[in-house]
Amino acid sequence: MPGKVYLVGAGPGDPELLTLKALRVLKAADVVLHDALIGAEILALVPHRAILENVGKRCGRKSALQQDINQSLINYARLDLQVVRLKGGDPLIFGRCGEEIEALRQGGIDFEIVPGITAALGAAASAHIPLTHRDIASSLLVLTGHHSKSGKTDPWPSPLPTNATLVIYMPGQDYEATAQKLVDNGLAIDTPCAIVSQATSPEQCVHVTTIERLAACPKLPTPNLLIVGAVAVLADHKSLPQDQDFFTQEYPYEGIEEQAKWQSK
Ligand code: SAH
Repeated sequence: MPGKVYLVGAGPGDPELLTLKALRVLKAADVVLHDALIGAEILALVPHRAILENVGKRCGRKSALQQDINQSLINYARLDLQVVRLKGGDPLIFGRCGEEIEALRQGGIDFEIVPGITAALGAAASAHIPLTHRDIASSLLVLTGHHSKSGKTDPWPSPLPTNATLVIYMPGQDYEATAQKLVDNGLAIDTPCAIVSQATSPEQCVHVTTIERLAACPKLPTPNLLIVGAVAVLADHKSLPQDQDFFTQEYPYEGIEEQAKWQSK
């Protein structure tokens, strides 16, 4: 069989959220190059005979350079191996997949992309937050709190839409700066938001608050993301058995009706 590279999304954490296709290509892989966020249960699905390489950041070690990863993918495929590049969530959302696609195209390597459940969808499911909701939020905006060192321009649209749900990946620890940026970009300080940490894992936790109170929030473990917008108030605590520990809320409004009033202010 000629070599081929599969750019595969592993989903947000729960191994049961792998697609059947991801599972099939993993089981047939000769080589798996994976990100640091991929959990042990998913890595255990890789056959023992396969080469398994962690190319992500871990334990203070630097991640492999993107161009070295690109070159490894090409080199292994040229040895006629079945290569899986395994990424958290979906490979096409903040996954640097674009650079790998470009390298594979230039190298003339056959490749296929296997989508995964992105963290926003895992987090929304974990916290029971509908990302869109009739009359409250009809669009979804995916943002990153992390800026590439070379990026000089502000990557957030300004003003931010007030009737959309925003999901901020890689929000970092400086919630005060994030809150300020949301307000500077036009959102009201009483806009609800939810931090969802380690979504879909047994350790997941959710903290619901407002932009105004974000700075005082507990620093939840990584990976985490921030869901901002009226729908965040719909988060609840029933999605896991240990729900008492994992859900905290300091949102001042009650229910969707109050929320609607707030929206029409
Ligand atoms: N390609 C990935 C995103 C990679 S960027 C995807 O589609 O999900 C990594 C960021 O994703 C993390 O910093 C965090 O903001 C978010 N993330 C990944 N897994 C998560 C999880 N289980 N719970 C909450 N956020 C998560």
